[in-house]
Amino acid sequence: MAEPLLQVKSLKKYFPITGGIFSKTIGEVKAVDDLTFTVYKGETLGIVGESGCGKSTTGRMLLRLIEPTEGSIIFENQEITSLSKRELRKIRRDMQMVFQDPFASLNPRHTVEKILEEPLIVHGIGSKQERKKRVQEMLEVVGLGSYHAKRYPHQFSGGQRQRIGIARALMTQPKLIIADEPVSALDVSIQAQVLNLLEDLQKEFGLTYIFIAHDLGVVRHISDRVGVMYLGRMVELADSDALYKSPKHPYTKALLSAVPIPDPEYKQERQLLAGDLPSPANPPKGCAFHTRCGACMEICKTERPKLKEVEAGHYVACHLYE
Ligand code: SF4
Repeated sequence: MAEPLLQVKSLKKYFPITGGIFSKTIGEVKAVDDLTFTVYKGETLGIVGESGCGKSTTGRMLLRLIEPTEGSIIFENQEITSLSKRELRKIRRDMQMVFQDPFASLNPRHTVEKILEEPLIVHGIGSKQERKKRVQEMLEVVGLGSYHAKRYPHQFSGGQRQRIGIARALMTQPKLIIADEPVSALDVSIQAQVLNLLEDLQKEFGLTYIFIAHDLGVVRHISDRVGVMYLGRMVELADSDALYKSPKHPYTKALLSAVPIPDPEYKQERQLLAGDLPSPANPPKGCAFHTRCGACMEICKTERPKLKEVEAGHYVACHLYE
């Protein structure tokens, strides 16, 4: 049995809604509402859902780039939510993030060398010469030449910029990488190259990934397990194969029916998602998906289903399985 690297328990993030001349709190947006999951060493956990489901907020909370409202995040037996800023800085060496838009996350006025060197300076790693050498090595590792070190971000293509973003995340030799939609901004032809690079790096450096995406097709390629989020909650979590072959939650089924399958013999039954995603400021009572679910029963409108293990390692939050 693999060892847990990260354990998330009852994690919540409520953003206050303010109004009136005194900016009083008049409500809250439940961006993440009671999330519990474990990430094991060496695996890739995909987290999927429509935009606004809380997946990116979750990713940022794990690094405490956003402060959780409640809950626990344990990384290598250490509770992250109670760490001081100094202690947090130390642990961030082991947990790094790759962002969706590499152009926005790379300082346009800095050379690639300076961008890659920065995490080493922040964490006090190596002498100037050692840092320079590591920058050059890392550029080669991500498939760029060391001669790229003196160039600026605007001199690269989107795919190359994401390689720089990945190189920067790897500079401190982290254990966990949280990749937030790392290929969504790239052309489809480039997406596969970056995904393959991430897979190769995982094998080479024994990395653990949390891979956040809105597209189940992209996540399938890279994930060992996949968690599906809807309105701030996990509605299904299973091994990648089990989830794609036999999805259980009606929301997962609808998401999957939108992913094209490259097999002319395969007749795909398309299940359209009815209606829009409800506002997380005013989520439906009971099962949050009941306003869009074709299988909705009376109980779904009043009672919130709990995430339960219905087959070995396959968790679902739906009254159909109770
Ligand atoms: Fe549909 Fe009810 Fe299951 Fe929610 S609990 S997904 S409304 S069947």
